Amino acid sequence: LFGIVQGGVDPGLRVVSARRTTALGFSGFGIGGLAVGETPDERNRTLEVTFAELPPSAPRYVMGLGDPEGVIEAVARGADLFDCVWPTRLARHGRVFTADGDYNLRRAEYGRDSRPPAEECACHTCATVSRGYLRHLLVTNELTVFRLLSIHNLHYTLGLLAGARAAILRGEFGRFVAEFRARRRGEPSR
Ligand SMILES: [Zn+2]
Repeated sequence: LFGIVQGGVDPGLRVVSARRTTALGFSGFGIGGLAVGETPDERNRTLEVTFAELPPSAPRYVMGLGDPEGVIEAVARGADLFDCVWPTRLARHGRVFTADGDYNLRRAEYGRDSRPPAEECACHTCATVSRGYLRHLLVTNELTVFRLLSIHNLHYTLGLLAGARAAILRGEFGRFVAEFRARRRGEPSR
């Protein structure tokens, strides 16, 4: 049973909420009221203030956060769990997550692209279909594309967090974050 800490982006309210929720004796803590339009800086500061008030050994769950940058910045501050529609919602808009940044498969340049959605990805979608085929499904409103791109974006997100966990266990999380940021800032290969 998790207690949920609220307080918006107000540090004082977050501290009060975190202390009162902790006093109730939960085994884990959700961080509510974020990923609703605040800036990444506001969100990261709020996480820092809130996490400082929570028991170090209890799992921290950032509710509703799911974009790759947001998730990694939250992990860097001590977050353990997430849930979010972001990977599947963006998939339904034709947006593909990759280690080199995201791209929109609706662009005409992908119409005859025989490469998989992401060249270093081992997911079912990347193993079986091309960007050109997926773009065809998108522009003709064939619903299969929603599932195929959701599989890919979820695979990317889960792999990203598995990589973060492995890097933490190796004591190399700082390097992992630096490489993640550097690659995601670049443009995906076209
Ligand atoms: Zn894939």
